[in-house]
Amino acid sequence: MRSAERRSAEAFDRFPLAAATVAIVLLVSAWTARTRTDDVGSVRTGHQTVRVDEPLPLTPSRLMWRGLRRLCPMCGRRGIFEGWFAQRDRCPACNFPTARVADQWLGAYGMNVLVSFSLLAVSIGVGFAVTYPNPPVAVLLVVLLTAAAVFPVVFYPVAKSLWAAIDLAMRPPEPSDDIDPRFLPPRRR
Ligand SMILES: [Zn+2]
Repeated sequence: MRSAERRSAEAFDRFPLAAATVAIVLLVSAWTARTRTDDVGSVRTGHQTVRVDEPLPLTPSRLMWRGLRRLCPMCGRRGIFEGWFAQRDRCPACNFPTARVADQWLGAYGMNVLVSFSLLAVSIGVGFAVTYPNPPVAVLLVVLLTAAAVFPVVFYPVAKSLWAAIDLAMRPPEPSDDIDPRFLPPRRR
């Protein structure tokens, strides 16, 4: 009886710590994503980085990785956002249009919903599994509801650049995009 109570109390004690750890990891990754740039034209071979003048091919994985870091999917540079939220109409480096079609926000919105719900489902599962058999329901509820409210807002810019990257993966650059030709990568064979 006493031990069950103690286990429950320990779960209460541990949960804020776990939540704080997750928050710190998210903040650090957001910060490093902010300060890193996908070096255009540099190729890593073994231990050294070789600079080349040609833009890198737009492989789906490269596009996704750029999108996840809020970089321009076309040239991999920073600058398609002002601050965390405000998105520029075009990339200041390569002139890539961040919204190639009028309803592009809809795709980003859908992606945000999809990712948010998936993460919420996983968090509920993990939260209850870790604290089983005495899940601190009230604490879990408060933490999960807060995360469910905050995450989609914070993630929205990432969803935008990620969706722009997916769009570029599905529809290669076209003349009407008016992209600086120096940034157009070689056509994939
Ligand atoms: Zn660009």
